[in-house]
Amino acid sequence: MYELSNHTEIIVHQALQDYLRNHSIPCSCELCQADIMALALNRLPPRYYVSLRGEIITQWESHNLPDQARVMAEVVRAIQQVSATPSHPIDHT
Ligand SMILES: [Zn+2]
Repeated sequence: MYELSNHTEIIVHQALQDYLRNHSIPCSCELCQADIMALALNRLPPRYYVSLRGEIITQWESHNLPDQARVMAEVVRAIQQVSATPSHPIDHT
């Protein structure tokens, strides 16, 4: 079965996990992480590719990927936005 994947989503996910390993944020639950991913991905260009059972079929130019610094900047911006206005009440106790 052919699958459509977004390479930008993979690198945003990695950037978020890297950030969470080194910083604490008000809430890092599944919902908040999904909110952060959505906000960051909406601001970065998508890079879709087609794979067949994990094997990449289409060639995408790796130099067309948004650079790591830009990805991390958007992830940090998304974290600040979600921290300021989380989708659920955060229990600080
Ligand atoms: Zn949360």
